[in-house]
Amino acid sequence: MKTLADVFEHTLQDIYYAENAITKALPKVAKAATYAKLKKAAEDHLEETKGQIATLKKVFTSIGKKAEGEKCDAIEGLLKEADGIMKEASGTALDAGLLAACQAVEHYEIARYGSLREWAKVLGHDEAHKLLSEILDQEKATNNKLTNLAVTSVNKS
Ligand code: FE
Ligand code: FE
Ligand code: FE
Repeated sequence: MKTLADVFEHTLQDIYYAENAITKALPKVAKAATYAKLKKAAEDHLEETKGQIATLKKVFTSIGKKAEGEKCDAIEGLLKEADGIMKEASGTALDAGLLAACQAVEHYEIARYGSLREWAKVLGHDEAHKLLSEILDQEKATNNKLTNLAVTSVNKS
């Protein structure tokens, strides 16, 4: 990796891998959550994530590259933490812990998409910039939804 174009492509592959890993993890989160609204949030975000993978494929196409993933160590670690919560926690601790684990994932995605869409802009990839900004907005909205859920109900119970 030597150029901004290289790091852009590398990071795109990283997040593509991460989104695919997330689609495998979210059904487990939905199953483990006991709080109905958290369950629903995980199910809804699973559908949204499938759409994001389709959008990422368009991003790869728009820059003339093949969609492929490259192992993302960060998401592996974050999902391992979520697994740990599912094994070790129960009752209200489980919901609060799971919700926090989901937010850690959203924050990672927000960091990645924030960089990616700015790099796309600088590199003159206007279509990629637009598509990546759409995904960034979805991740931010999900994070806000989770914050509201935590503050208004999960943490109190
Ligand atoms: Fe995502
Ligand atoms: Fe990564
Ligand atoms: Fe997300």
